[in-house]
Order: sequence, then C-alpha cells, then structure tokens
Amino acid sequence: MPAREEVLEANARYAEQFDLRMLPGPPVRRLAVLTCMDSRLDPARFLGLEPGDAHVIRNAGAVVTDDVIRGLVLSTWLMDIREVLVIAHTRCKLLGGSNEQIRKEIADRGSVDVGTIDFHPFADLEESVRAGLARIAQSPLLPESLEASGFVYEVETGTLRTVAAGETEQQDGRAAAETVPGQTALDPAELRV
Ligand code: ZN
Repeated sequence: MPAREEVLEANARYAEQFDLRMLPGPPVRRLAVLTCMDSRLDPARFLGLEPGDAHVIRNAGAVVTDDVIRGLVLSTWLMDIREVLVIAHTRCKLLGGSNEQIRKEIADRGSVDVGTIDFHPFADLEESVRAGLARIAQSPLLPESLEASGFVYEVETGTLRTVAAGETEQQDGRAAAETVPGQTALDPAELRV
C-alpha cells in the first residue's frame, strides 16, 4: 500500500477523535524549536511538547537559513515567541560531508546535476549550532530579547546535550553567513511588522 493511503487512513481515525479545535494560535510556551528533518527525531516527544506548545521549524541540518529567519520573524513579532532552541543531532547526513560529495552522490544515483545548490554541510555539530545561534543573535530582524540556546540531540540515546555559546560566537556567525552563497541580507523594512 502506498504510504499516502496509510496516512490517510490514520488521519481518518485521528479526525474521528479530534479535540484540538479550541487551541489558540500563539504557542502557549512561547517557544520555537529549530531542528533537522531527520525522521529519527520526534521533537514533540523528546521535548515533551503538546499540540499548541511551540513552533517547530525543520530543515536539513537545523541550519539557520534566511527562511528560518523568516519563520522566526513571524514567530517573535506576531506570535509572541520569546525563546528559540536550535537542535542539531548526531549522525546527521550533513555532518562531515561537503557540497561536492553530496552533489556527486546525487549525480551518481539520479543522473541529475543539482548544480550549485548549497546543502549547508558542516564539519562540526557544535560549531554548526553555535553559528546558528550567532546568526539569530546578530539578526537585526529579531527582537534583542529573544533567548536562543543550542543543543545536540543524540540519536543513540535520546539525550539532549547543551551546546555552550563559546567565545568565538560572533566570528562563527560571520563566517557562517559568508559561506552561504545566495543568501542575501533581508531588508528589515520589508519584514517590519
Ligand atoms: Zn540531520
């Protein structure tokens, strides 16, 4: 059976018992979480979150991209989010690779040239988290009061490990921003709310 048939059946059962229609839009814990799209990660479960508790933003690698900033701008200014967690994880596909390796692997498997797509690979989990925290801290689009903290989730144990901000936080952030081609600075005026 195709996966879509299975999920539609599951949804029908879910809708029969649906009882969340009264949830407010703004997350009650005033929390946003950025983590990887990896299927081994279930942030609601490993963070003890209930529906309505938090915004959860996911992408490949839990990388703070322009689109993550876009989401956090909405979260903070329109939905009263006060705190954000950046959560990378062990055994991430983007850990230790390079754009060239990933592009070649795709070309070998799919005979497709993905050109200059930047997959945002990283050599070190903690450094990647620190770079993300720095980018959030340095963004002129986000409230200065936004509290950002970083973690590594261990897929081997289910444990969250705290990532210290580190003294080179700002340098990391600038370095990360400079190594992201195609990411242009957002115009604050366009996003002011
Ligand atoms: Zn990952």
